[in-house]
Amino acid sequence: MKQLAVLGSTGSIGASTLEIVAAHPEHFRVVALTAGRNFDLLARQIAIFRPRVVAVQNADEARLLTRELGPGAPEVLYGPSGLTACAVAPGVDMVVSAIVGAAGLEPTLAAIQAGRDVALANKEALVAAGPLVMTAVRAQGTTLFPIDSEHSAIFQSLQGHRRHDVRRLILTASGGPFRDYSHQALAAVRPQDALMHPNWSMGRKITIDSATMMNKGLEVIEAHWLFDLPAEQIDVHIHPESIVHSMVEYIDGAVIAQLGLPDMKTPIAYALSYPERLALDLPPLDLCSLGQLNFHEPDQQRFPCLALAYKALQAEGTAPAVLNAANEVAVEAFLGGHLDFLSIAAVIEGVLARHDVQPLTDLDQVLAADAWARDAAEVLVSSKLTGVS
Ligand code: NAD
Ligand code: MG
Repeated sequence: MKQLAVLGSTGSIGASTLEIVAAHPEHFRVVALTAGRNFDLLARQIAIFRPRVVAVQNADEARLLTRELGPGAPEVLYGPSGLTACAVAPGVDMVVSAIVGAAGLEPTLAAIQAGRDVALANKEALVAAGPLVMTAVRAQGTTLFPIDSEHSAIFQSLQGHRRHDVRRLILTASGGPFRDYSHQALAAVRPQDALMHPNWSMGRKITIDSATMMNKGLEVIEAHWLFDLPAEQIDVHIHPESIVHSMVEYIDGAVIAQLGLPDMKTPIAYALSYPERLALDLPPLDLCSLGQLNFHEPDQQRFPCLALAYKALQAEGTAPAVLNAANEVAVEAFLGGHLDFLSIAAVIEGVLARHDVQPLTDLDQVLAADAWARDAAEVLVSSKLTGVS
């Protein structure tokens, strides 16, 4: 019986994780749950999974939840310290890290430092603080199991092979809803258009990241840290069908890929139960009715976020944390109607250009770079200097 803490349990990944847990009660017990704002869903999850401890965002919500749940309620904590307490709760074997954004960094790092294995969806933690996270993983002898479908595909395609035989990783990308749009059409994109992803159903932030292709940029950085390969050995192919989830090319020319329907339950289940596989109630992949699978090069002119991420990875140090934080601000501004779609990349580029990259030594430095980048991005958004910087 594996004891789980699910951070971000009310999100898209968190809810899918709990669906898998509910279908396999003989394998898992939920010890801790955390949520941001989705109070009602959290209350329902508590009633079903009966965790020992939960965390919400602030003290008022914690009081309200305690009152609502009545006698027998779990311990209700709040704020960043509450998240961390859930991440290191006694008896937890695996922490599912599914908070969105840099907010997930501190609890994820705390979980690793407490010796917990982590099933990682929160790619932003690895983007912002890759060297610190991986150093902690090695020091504690814990394992990061990727939930991101591309990284799960690579993880699966590496099984039974030797790392030094790998020539390159090929991450696939759907290309998002606008992959065939002209520059002019991209300029007119509205949030409601960008929130309609053709293949995947996901949270709002990652859906916008998919539309700008920053998601793939963040995933290149994530792959760099997870699989210890330089940027030059990590390529991206656009694959509109989202059936081949990623591939590993070996030195003898063999390419091993993992295929499946675009459903996050498959990679989540693999991370939860590795090396075993859990039976999932998904329809079979029917390649014959699909007929064909397509691949082509990404267009880095129309989707500059991918190139910006490669640039930040090559700059190392604080650059990826700054890229990530600027992106979070720009995406929020776009969703709030304060920034046009093309200016998301322009804001990030402007913030990176203003940043004096420092080598990464500790968490405080990551948090300081993150805070600086958020301020710099806010200034660019509000002054509307985005297109000309
Ligand atoms: P989501 O927005 O659906 O859910 C995010 C969760 O985090 C929610 O429970 C929310 O309440 C919580 N949260 C948000 N801000 C918080 C804060 N400041 N403090 C504490 N909790 C907070 O997001 P999602 O789509 O489930 O994505 C979660 C992570 O998984 C992201 O890093 C994303 O990139 C990654 N991911 C998601 C998918 C997917 O299919 N959704 C696929 C691959 C990777
Ligand atoms: Mg992905």
